[in-house]
Amino acid sequence: MNPFEALGLGPELIRAVTDLGFEKPTPIQEETIPAVLATNDDLIALAQTGTGKTAAFGLPIQEQLDILLSEVQALILSPTRELCIQIHKDLESYSKYLPDLKQTAIYGGSDIVKQIKALKNKPQIVVGTPGRVLDLIGRKVLKVGNIKWLVLDEADEMLNMGFKDELDSILETTPKEKRTLLFSATMPDAVLKIAKKYMHEPREITSGQRNVGAENVRHQFYMVHARDRYEALKRIADINPSIYGIVFCRTRQETKDVADKLKNDGYNADALHGDLSQAQREYVMKGFRSKHLQMLVATDVAARGLDVNDLTHIINYNLPDELEIYIHRSGRTGRAGKSGISISIIHTRESNKIRNLEKITGKKFEKKLVPTGREICEKQLFNLVDRMEKTEVDEAQIGEYMDVIYKKLEWLSREDLIKRFVSVEFNRFLDYYKNASDLNVREEKERRKRPDVEIKQARSFSRFFINLGSKNKITPPKVIGLINDYTKRRDLAIGKIDIMKNFSFFEVDQQFEKDVLRGFKKATFEGIPVSVEISKPDTKQGRAEGKRERLKEKKKGKKKRR
Ligand code: ADP
Ligand code: MG
Repeated sequence: MNPFEALGLGPELIRAVTDLGFEKPTPIQEETIPAVLATNDDLIALAQTGTGKTAAFGLPIQEQLDILLSEVQALILSPTRELCIQIHKDLESYSKYLPDLKQTAIYGGSDIVKQIKALKNKPQIVVGTPGRVLDLIGRKVLKVGNIKWLVLDEADEMLNMGFKDELDSILETTPKEKRTLLFSATMPDAVLKIAKKYMHEPREITSGQRNVGAENVRHQFYMVHARDRYEALKRIADINPSIYGIVFCRTRQETKDVADKLKNDGYNADALHGDLSQAQREYVMKGFRSKHLQMLVATDVAARGLDVNDLTHIINYNLPDELEIYIHRSGRTGRAGKSGISISIIHTRESNKIRNLEKITGKKFEKKLVPTGREICEKQLFNLVDRMEKTEVDEAQIGEYMDVIYKKLEWLSREDLIKRFVSVEFNRFLDYYKNASDLNVREEKERRKRPDVEIKQARSFSRFFINLGSKNKITPPKVIGLINDYTKRRDLAIGKIDIMKNFSFFEVDQQFEKDVLRGFKKATFEGIPVSVEISKPDTKQGRAEGKRERLKEKKKGKKKRR
């Protein structure tokens, strides 16, 4: 018996997945499919990317749908346009022998009229991003009053992206009797809250694969000043000439910037983020899968759709806000019995994050020193010699040129020849690293002996006050978005973000203080004028200074008005 048949799926679906080359269910499918088919339970499934979640919920829903009933029976929510398109495409391929089954995808940034038309065609399954789904429910084009299944795919990412309110509204509009299936790679509090509020005694499934590879992953970190982050990344890449990995960034903008810089500096790197068209995205992924690209710079969401198994490194260019995401990122290396290294580039005030990560993972994080220019040159030199030794010579092709080349180089001795061939490639590194400085930040103990150094480092971030808080529905990603939009600076490091009820604080690399203040001068947020000012440290002196400055500002303002 076909193993999918044993799970309870019908012949049409089995034929389709066989066409796709699925021979047996993945562990998450093995547990989820019968649970969805044979019980009425709500379900929480925890599993990493690439474990086959789409088929895990897609197949049993398609199996049970009433094909003769022309109304929306299943709603699948997913965080991004790309993932919606991907899920829709996958569902279509599973249902190719069920011609009467209709499904459509709706997402922002795309022609809504076309999507409305597709909905009027009465699909039984709708896949959508929370924003667009809510919009279309509001326009009364999407009717979810009779749905039997609601799927929250990549629930953690949807919440990370600030879709909490949309999810709340959608969950409240849908019928109570429906079944909710929640899929997530991590289980932060926000996801648990949603589950508690809207799900009924959910059955929990954790895919056996969740922590696969974790044993083979070594965790390392480099401590540098925030401004040296990029330089440190380059050195890490240079000391690992055969690196094949993902560089994780916090924002789309940062992803673009880092990838652009790497490309300019001659690395085989490219960016994967939500602003790319489907075609661009596929192009980048193809380049990475075929290893033409050695480094893929990506946001967490963008990297989710990507299943590549033999990564040598994961680099956290910035640590994620949600530390559990770290586990998810690092679990992308060290798979299939291979070993991998997860590297974090941190600045001086993030060592507590490393300690927390050590607690969460139960692993020791090794502090590494950013390699010096000399060490890198050495490594590259031996790598070059090694490659040269292993290069296969194609006698047939190159033979015809050799006579001329021998003649031209006749006057050089063997030693001279080798030196020159090696230098052709090696000079680039030598030149670059000739006067390279030490990027490592001094050890804690040493710093204590030198109070001046410590003060300087403690001040490398400036804290700002902003008059928007949770009551304005502001979230950390929205704050990052505002900073990027209004400063138009691509290279500024963003530190801690604290959201309060009526206002918030955020930190930005001190050297960009002026850019932030200037940028936000005429800023607005959903019609509200935004005011951003430097927030003084909460000490007596700080408060006094703050007061003096506000007074000064007031006087200045009065003068101007006069
Ligand atoms: P996830 O949503 O968990 O990240 P996907 O559902 O996108 O994973 O599946 C990842 C990849 O695995 C896809 O290319 C999919 O076609 C493939 N896949 C899914 N199930 C199976 C299976 N049972 N056998 C072989 N390949 C599968
Ligand atoms: Mg998926």
